[in-house]
Amino acid sequence: MFDEYSLGSLTIVTPNEVKHNTSITIVDGRIDGFSKSKKKNYDIEGAYILFPALINAHDHLFGSYHPKIGTSPYICWLPWDYDLKNSPVYEERNKNNPFDIYLAGAYKNLISGVTTVHDHIPHHINDPFIDKLPIRVLKDYSLSHEASMYDLKWGDGIGIEHKRAVKNNIPYVTHIEEGFDVESLRGIENLEEQDALSEHTVLVHGIGFSKGDINKVANRNAHFVWCPGSNYFMFKRTAKVKEIHKAGINMSIGTDSPASGELNLIDEIKFAKKIYKEMYNEELDDKLIVDMITVNPAEAFRIQDKLGSLEKGKLGDLLLISGDANDPYSSLVNAGLKDIALVIMEGFPLYGDNNFSDIFKDSGKNYSIIHIDGKEKLIIGDPKGLMKRVSEVVGFEKKLPFLPI
Ligand SMILES: [Zn+2]
Repeated sequence: MFDEYSLGSLTIVTPNEVKHNTSITIVDGRIDGFSKSKKKNYDIEGAYILFPALINAHDHLFGSYHPKIGTSPYICWLPWDYDLKNSPVYEERNKNNPFDIYLAGAYKNLISGVTTVHDHIPHHINDPFIDKLPIRVLKDYSLSHEASMYDLKWGDGIGIEHKRAVKNNIPYVTHIEEGFDVESLRGIENLEEQDALSEHTVLVHGIGFSKGDINKVANRNAHFVWCPGSNYFMFKRTAKVKEIHKAGINMSIGTDSPASGELNLIDEIKFAKKIYKEMYNEELDDKLIVDMITVNPAEAFRIQDKLGSLEKGKLGDLLLISGDANDPYSSLVNAGLKDIALVIMEGFPLYGDNNFSDIFKDSGKNYSIIHIDGKEKLIIGDPKGLMKRVSEVVGFEKKLPFLPI
C-alpha cells in the first residue's frame, strides 16, 4: 500500500523556516505533517534538502522543440513569430504527433523539478493532452495572447476573458508589452480600457513597462511573470525587475518555450541571477528566486491553498535536491540537472535517483531508466521511446537538448 508514508530525516524548507532533522508524512497524496509515519518510513541518507516541487509560471508546451529560432534584436514579438512560423525547424516540428511535442515539454519540466506548469495557449489546444501528461498542466485560466491590437486573437477578447476570470476566481493570463513599438507600449492602457487589470491578471514579459505602468500594476495587485532568457534571446534586454519587485508586485519566473527561452527552469533561474547582476550590479536574493518558482506563482495562479509550499493539508508535491543543508536556497539556485534527486507529485514519485528505487517500486507505477549527466535516474513512462518516435518521424536521430537522456 502506498497511501501513507514518510520521508526522513531531512532538511525541509517550509514557508517560514528551514527545519533540520525533520520527517514529512504523506497521506493520500497530501502533506499530513512533519513527523515519522508509523506505517512506513523511507530513510533518506546523505546531503539532501526538501522543497515544494517547482512551478513553471510560463511555458508553451507545443513549442517544445529545438533549435531556437530568430535573429535578434526584434522591435516586438510579431516579426519573431513570423520568422518562427516560416522556419524549417517549425515545419520539422509539425511533422510530429502534437501529443509527443507536449510530452517532450512535460519531461523537460519534470527533470528540472517542476510538477506544475502554466501552458499559455487556448484551451481547445491543450485540453486533449493535459490528462495524459506525467506532470500537472493548469486547466483553470482565462487568457488573451497579447494586450495589443495585433495579438493572435486567443480567447474571446480581453474584456470578456478577464470578466470570466473574476467570475470563476481563476487567473486571466496575457503576454504584455513584449516589444518597444508604440502599440506594444500601450499594453497597460489597453487593459485599463477594457477593465482587465486586477488581482486576477497575470502579466507576462512587460519588457516595455514604464515606471507609470509598474505603479498601475502594483496598485491593482496584478501579478508579473519574468522570462529573462526568452527576453534576452529576442530583444537583448528584459523588464525592469528591480523596480517591479520594489513596487511590491508578486513576481514569478517562467521559461517560455525552448523556441526562445532557456532549456529549463533551473537554467532560467541561473540566467535570471546572472542578468540581474549585469543590470543592477547587485545579487538577486536566492530566497526571492526560490519564492518566484514556488509560493509566488502559486499565488498568481490562485492555487496557493494546494501548492507552492510545504504545509500540512497541501498536495504532496515534493522536490528533493542534493545540496548543502546550511545553505538551502543557494543550493537550489545552483543545482544542476543531476542534483534533482527526487520529484514527487501528489505522493507518487515521478522521477529521481536510482538509490530511491524502493519508493518507486512501492508506488506500483511503471518507470524506465535514463541517464542525466552520467547519473542513473528512474522516470515515469518512456521518454526514450518518445525520442525514438520523434527521430522516426523526422528521419534522423533528433536530439532535444532540454531532454538530454
Ligand atoms: Zn510566451
